[in-house]
Amino acid sequence: MAVHIVDTSDPSETESVGAELAGDLREGDVVLVRGELGAGKTTLVRGAARALGVTDPVTSPSFSIGHRYRARDSLTVSHLDLYRLAGLDDEDPELLADYLGDGRIAFVEWPPDAERELAQARVEVSLAHAGEDRRRIEVRQR
Ligand code: ADP
Ligand code: MG
Repeated sequence: MAVHIVDTSDPSETESVGAELAGDLREGDVVLVRGELGAGKTTLVRGAARALGVTDPVTSPSFSIGHRYRARDSLTVSHLDLYRLAGLDDEDPELLADYLGDGRIAFVEWPPDAERELAQARVEVSLAHAGEDRRRIEVRQR
């Protein structure tokens, strides 16, 4: 388990942390992105998605659980926002099937302390408010 901690002081720096992380990712990876509302989860995912070749604007999913973006080569970048789901117990397990798996890299926004986690997440990112525009970002890779 490799742990890497970075402090950022504006959104573009948090995007850069996402872009750097993107370089370590491979197809099939799931990245769990934890943190309070406004901590910068979507901002970090935006930076990572750009670095993976996504050119469409990366925005928070609001009318569905997620978005899928065409990235470089035949890669798809999935961005799920499960922040408001207390757990996936009541959800159709097939719900995630369209977002995870071969040919895809998935970023999943998640509350800071939810009990239930996606078992297959190889990478976990936690973002925390550290005053004004500062954020502390912790990246763990298995
Ligand atoms: P989340 O997805 O965790 O709810 P967002 O990425 O949507 O958070 O929003 C983070 C907000 O905080 C944005 O308005 C962004 O401009 C602002 N912000 C200020 N400083 C930072 C920082 N260092 N890193 C990320 N976002 C920041
Ligand atoms: Mg978000």
